[in-house]
Amino acid sequence: MTTSLLRQLDYLPEGLLTASPDELESLLEGPTLIHLQGNHAEPLFVSVLLHGNEPTGLLAIQSLLQRYKDKILPRSLSIFFGNVSAASKRARRLDEQADYNRIWPGTELAECPETKMASQIVEIMSEKQLFASIDIHNNTGLNPHYSCVNKLEPEFLQLATLFGRFVVYFIRPKGVQSSAFAQYCPAVTLECGRPGQQYGVEHALDFVNAALNLTEIPQHDVHAHDIDLFHTVAQVCVKDDIEFSFDDEQAELLLNSDIERLNFTEIARGTPFGKVTSNKGLPLIAMSETGENITERFFSNEQGYLAIKRPTMPSMLTLDEKVIRQDCLCYLMERLAI
Ligand SMILES: [Zn+2]
Repeated sequence: MTTSLLRQLDYLPEGLLTASPDELESLLEGPTLIHLQGNHAEPLFVSVLLHGNEPTGLLAIQSLLQRYKDKILPRSLSIFFGNVSAASKRARRLDEQADYNRIWPGTELAECPETKMASQIVEIMSEKQLFASIDIHNNTGLNPHYSCVNKLEPEFLQLATLFGRFVVYFIRPKGVQSSAFAQYCPAVTLECGRPGQQYGVEHALDFVNAALNLTEIPQHDVHAHDIDLFHTVAQVCVKDDIEFSFDDEQAELLLNSDIERLNFTEIARGTPFGKVTSNKGLPLIAMSETGENITERFFSNEQGYLAIKRPTMPSMLTLDEKVIRQDCLCYLMERLAI
């Protein structure tokens, strides 16, 4: 029998509110779920550091809890401090670990200690009449702040637009936290820009604080002029056998070094992503949300240039080669009318 990865506490350990992300592992000894009581019993669930190099959620929660240090929380709050061992190395995840934002119920990963832990957390939280769920991330590219939802119901969009007007709806990748919690309560993922930006911390803090102080989430439709809603239509990865670079002219795929400027802009047919020297066919794979290969619907090789074939809007384009290999190059989106 294996023991669970998860630890649970009903108090804040000494030093937690001032610990840096790389100190958490020695303080908590592993992924930890902390339950704090508040005036409204139905808890708000917040997860931070599902990716170890995305500290904004932790910093926001630390500031929030400092604010309530000598006061009762307006609502119960359960916080999951996720991949603390990756955080100690300032890495998204460690090589031998599953990605903590792909392990939740609905995942396509084979069962592993991390997927068991995620199921255990959902089980524990679903017994508590959840109020809402928030998962806080950073990303590496040049992106505006936005939130993601996995259901288009009014309560989800109401919660999302409390963070900002950019909202992305997606159903793939599978196994993300917000998708698992969407079965039980309004759930959002926050993308708070790059790590290390104080504005991201303050924005996340204000949002969590607002959610904590809501007595209920409005159930009426969001007004169309209060939201820019996009639907992810493809996840784009560089093919495993393709060498890519942003500066090596010899690489099979030389991506444009200003590519992240395309994030959240509506781009036209013909927009180039880079230069292709390989003769292995298109160097990228675009997969639809239903797992269909739709590369040729979106990309073509125009005389050695990798070009977009139809109007679309990219997000999460990054210059970080490790992130591109571990996760993906970008997502492609289309505007959704509500
Ligand atoms: Zn993340």
